[in-house]
Amino acid sequence: MKRTFRGGIVFPSALQNQKETAQASSFMTIFPKQLHLSLNSALKPTVSVGDTVLIGDRLAADPDGKFPPLHCGISGTVTAIEQSSVITVISDGSNTFGTLLPPLSKTASREALLQRMYDAGLVGMGGAGFPTYRKYQAPTIRHLLINACECEPYLAADVRLSIEHSDTLAEGIRFLAAAAGISSREAVFCTESPTAAARLSGMGIRTILLQGRYPQGSERQLLAAVFGREIPEDRFPTDCGMIVSNVATAVAMAEAAHGLPLTHRSVTVSGMVAHPVNLFAPIGTPFSDLIEQADPLLSRRRCRYIAGGPMTGTQITSLTSGLPKTCGGVTVLPALQITKGPCIRCGACVRVCPAGLMPFRIEAAHLAGEKDNTATACISCGCCSYVCPAKRNLAAHIGEARQEMRQRP
Ligand code: SF4
Ligand code: SF4
Repeated sequence: MKRTFRGGIVFPSALQNQKETAQASSFMTIFPKQLHLSLNSALKPTVSVGDTVLIGDRLAADPDGKFPPLHCGISGTVTAIEQSSVITVISDGSNTFGTLLPPLSKTASREALLQRMYDAGLVGMGGAGFPTYRKYQAPTIRHLLINACECEPYLAADVRLSIEHSDTLAEGIRFLAAAAGISSREAVFCTESPTAAARLSGMGIRTILLQGRYPQGSERQLLAAVFGREIPEDRFPTDCGMIVSNVATAVAMAEAAHGLPLTHRSVTVSGMVAHPVNLFAPIGTPFSDLIEQADPLLSRRRCRYIAGGPMTGTQITSLTSGLPKTCGGVTVLPALQITKGPCIRCGACVRVCPAGLMPFRIEAAHLAGEKDNTATACISCGCCSYVCPAKRNLAAHIGEARQEMRQRP
């Protein structure tokens, strides 16, 4: 029997089929006419309006040297910097590369690999966006899990990346293991796809095939499935000697070792579309450019666009905003028309909660202005909302309760 964790959801076969269709779609590289690159609060622009930039050039950096820099994925001209937080670059159409980083050897030291993670702008590409070099700085790592458990409906880029670029991925896994200070034999590729497992196994990488169940790709659920052990809520996997990295991060590591900063990422566009697609797109590509590649079946008025999957993604409020480093999918869904009813105490939310919580009780406490400390263990997977027959938006309320609790002294 394949390994898994407690709780969670197995999605209906229609959704699984749509995912498999997307997994079969080969990557296409797109060349947008412009980029809109958002900066977080740590990053400050290192370019000015009017500057000419090439692929791989730095656009923004952290003056304190803690958050990795942001690089450009097209060649062209910087035409706007809005409130020091969004940089717009218009393409010159030539896609010319600038001066890249010097390549690293296969035997590069741990220090050199950590420095390269920083210089190449690597952050966790599975959604968290935590600086990769900081995760790998942890002193006593024993295990590295490479996460290709893309368990949300519709999304397929991670599995496709594992199948289509298994050689680069295997190389990236070996570099990541060296950066963690462990042998590549301690690195394990985790997936729900038998094809991806066979590819990586053929490259000499240890693989574990897990049961297709949501949220298998969540860091804590993956560790529970692989090691049969749960990480305490107040600790990080690195505190317990483990690192989980997404496959896109591993591929970016291999490219960084060859001198390419992180300028592009893999992304699936799926949902209510005629042609689900997997794209390689420059960071900062407008969401509208991504969506038009998949030919949406609904007009803009009748649908909503989600950055990520339908379970944990966030609604895209402006289609001109740019693809961030952390976004591996865009999902087109029908506009929501939900009428929620009262809780009927059916217990479905309790049965699926992978964190072992009582979602209906936490929601009721939150709505009554009371506090339920167990909310802090919620991983925001959305399973409770998905199964609730009364259509209660449990995950959103529990997320609010958790935020409030974190903000309290
Ligand atoms: S309470 Fe949190 S962890 Fe449990 S199912 Fe709901 S969203 Fe997921
Ligand atoms: S699934 Fe919905 S209706 Fe059932 S117990 Fe939970 S909140 Fe109540």
